[in-house]
Amino acid sequence: MSIALAGDTGIGSAQVSGPSARAASVAEVAARWAVDVDRDARFPQEAVDALRDQRLLSCAVPPELGGEGATLRELCTIARTLGRQCAATAMIFAMHQTQILSLVRHPGGDGVAGFLRAAVAGQYLLASATTELGIGGDVRRSTCAVERSGGVVSLVKNAPVISYGEYADAILATARRTPDSPPSDQVLVICRRADVTLERTGDWNTLGLRGTCSPGFVLRATTTPDLVVADPYSEISATTMLPVSHSVWSAVWLGIADAAVEKARRYVRVAARKQPGAASPAALRLAEAAAVHQQFADVVFAAAGRFDDADAAPAGSPEAEVACGVGYSLAMNNLKVTASTLAVDLVGRALLICGIAGYREETEYSLGRHLRDAHGAAVMVNNDRIMANSAQMATAYRGTI
Ligand SMILES: Cc1cc2nc3c(=O)[nH]c(=O)nc-3n(C[C@H](O)[C@H](O)[C@H](O)COP(=O)(O)OP(=O)(O)OC[C@H]3O[C@@H](n4cnc5c(N)ncnc54)[C@H](O)[C@@H]3O)c2cc1C
Repeated sequence: MSIALAGDTGIGSAQVSGPSARAASVAEVAARWAVDVDRDARFPQEAVDALRDQRLLSCAVPPELGGEGATLRELCTIARTLGRQCAATAMIFAMHQTQILSLVRHPGGDGVAGFLRAAVAGQYLLASATTELGIGGDVRRSTCAVERSGGVVSLVKNAPVISYGEYADAILATARRTPDSPPSDQVLVICRRADVTLERTGDWNTLGLRGTCSPGFVLRATTTPDLVVADPYSEISATTMLPVSHSVWSAVWLGIADAAVEKARRYVRVAARKQPGAASPAALRLAEAAAVHQQFADVVFAAAGRFDDADAAPAGSPEAEVACGVGYSLAMNNLKVTASTLAVDLVGRALLICGIAGYREETEYSLGRHLRDAHGAAVMVNNDRIMANSAQMATAYRGTI
């Protein structure tokens, strides 16, 4: 197990090993508590503490602001490692990284940079309030609006779902730029915990991803204008939030599939030992599942690589411009829909292989939690909504993906 060399603050200090390697020890902690977290629908505090101890909440922040500049591929590797053990922990990691990268890549003025430095030093956990009552999953529209008066910015948002809102150090909320702006003219507001009140409006008793603790809240925030991100949310969403969230979420779902396929493999191996030489339909099913599993992994890491390559290219170069194109947005939408479908498909295949042992809740082959968690993927921004968006782009698009 690697140990961070960091002192109390740890800012800018060297680590014994890279972020992906350090995730293994967090995954061990997550695995220990995964059943509890799922059963009680409770926040995975132990695993999030371990993420903080390993300084993984700030690994994507550039070194000049105190982080390690982890690539999206590395974030996906970590999300996958965690997802194998506890999908709720992995999803919290994934959602947090989407928020922090949105600030890293759209820093605007001193306010955002200062906030990022504080986030690294304090290992802040960042949550997101994009969904809004009455608008549902259409994150590119808001009803609530930012109001400015006497150098103070205020916002009231009725959010039906804010994951780990009660445990976050800040919530990034979307809102209309002004009370007179149309619903699509949105900005992203950094709402620090101390500047926010959360009035709970519902419970979080769901089929899966129970440990994300995502009830509804009325969020009331009063903050300073420098914590309103300067770039329009339309740009943040297209160039960062959408590709990053779809990549890291997909990596979480890949982790769920890893866990299921691994159980199926173990089941087939044990059965083969009991009856050496006997042809087993389960072994054939396992080979078929392994092929789909491999495609799943390839799709996730190819998408993350596409993002990293564009990110590393000089601004304005054709390689960097790829990330602004319709083909790229279509590819990232396809990633989300494909990955969410394959996660359920692979857990289903594993269930057929493990049979009743997988269906039972308390065997080493139990697949119930993985299946319930995997089903969250299609509704976490509804696949129909994503495909409706893709349909418009696909009709207009003339290039190849
Ligand atoms: C585990 C989990 C964690 C989440 N965490 C957060 C969070 O931290 N912050 C946050 O803001 N949100 C969060 N969400 C919310 C999520 O991202 C979605 O926005 C939300 O689940 C959508 O809710 P919905 O299904 O009611 O809405 P909709 O997307 O509106 O879907 C409802 C119905 O509308 C249909 N529909 C599809 N397309 C359209 C269309 N174009 N027009 C009208 N209807 C359409 C759908 O098919 C579906 O039948 C989370 C969700 C999950 C599952």
